[in-house]
Amino acid sequence: MSSSFDILIIGGGAAGVSAALTCLSRGKTVGVVTNDEKTSALYKAERISNYPGFDAISGAELTGRLSEQLKNSGAEIIRGRALNVLPMGESFGVAVESDYYMASALIIAAGITREKLYPGEGEFLGRGVSYCATCDGMLYRGKTVALIGASEEAAHDAQFLRSIGCTVHEYTQPGAYEILGADKANAVRYKGAEQTVDGVFIIKDTVSVTRLVPGLEYKDGGIVTDRHMATAVPGVFAAGDCTGKPYQLAKAVGEGNIAALSACEYLDKTN
Ligand SMILES: Cc1cc2nc3c(=O)[nH]c(=O)nc-3n(C[C@H](O)[C@H](O)[C@H](O)COP(=O)(O)OP(=O)(O)OC[C@H]3O[C@@H](n4cnc5c(N)ncnc54)[C@H](O)[C@@H]3O)c2cc1C
Repeated sequence: MSSSFDILIIGGGAAGVSAALTCLSRGKTVGVVTNDEKTSALYKAERISNYPGFDAISGAELTGRLSEQLKNSGAEIIRGRALNVLPMGESFGVAVESDYYMASALIIAAGITREKLYPGEGEFLGRGVSYCATCDGMLYRGKTVALIGASEEAAHDAQFLRSIGCTVHEYTQPGAYEILGADKANAVRYKGAEQTVDGVFIIKDTVSVTRLVPGLEYKDGGIVTDRHMATAVPGVFAAGDCTGKPYQLAKAVGEGNIAALSACEYLDKTN
């Protein structure tokens, strides 16, 4: 397993797979950070009838085909959520759950994150609020924590926290949670009831791109790019739904291809 790539792609949906295939065809080493394929927008589409080459196909079937193609492509598939990107001069460090990867260029193909932040979530992130139990859990060993999330991964994380001696208050219902605190988070409010805690873990399928990469620019909810899918950060390209409307498969695939060609050109110029 490599931990350093020419190009790291965040998101294994249509845009990410398209980008990966093109980067590989140009001889680059490629890592694709991707969580469960069922989290992609495409998986939820009942029927796609405007994508060339298919009269009609369900989103779930096309998602399965994309995943299979990615698996056989030669890209290294990194399962999990990219949590944080750290620009380091001529390269990037990317935290994926509790692991760390390096790349010379990045392609963000993370789709859209519709979830709004809970009140207090952004304010206390890194100060009592964490997105990753296996990364930060040890800071709360033996303490009382809240865990908000209903996925299989959230259940697994709750178990992990208990295994290191934490008292875990699990919140599995979707709803209006509020994170309270002063210097750092110290309580969760839900349906009017307050629970005092030492830390709060919020386990979502994805991390909003606005939190993921510092320095990107946004307009109308999408990452701003030029025609070459280059973002405001040199070496970072973006493709697909995360660059804004129209939210369409053909656009995602086309932008993935352009972002890949631009990332390869960027690397060829800088190396
Ligand atoms: C109900 C529905 C019907 C649709 N019907 C059509 C249609 O008929 N025709 C059409 O052209 N389009 C349709 N679309 C839109 C189409 O599905 C999307 O435009 C397309 O899937 C976008 O691809 P993408 O790769 O940009 O994003 P996505 O398919 O959303 O893939 C992004 C992937 O990246 C993952 N990811 C995000 N953040 C991270 C992270 N931090 N770490 C790891 N992984 C991450 C996500 O979980 C996801 O799996 C439909 C969408 C929906 C929801």
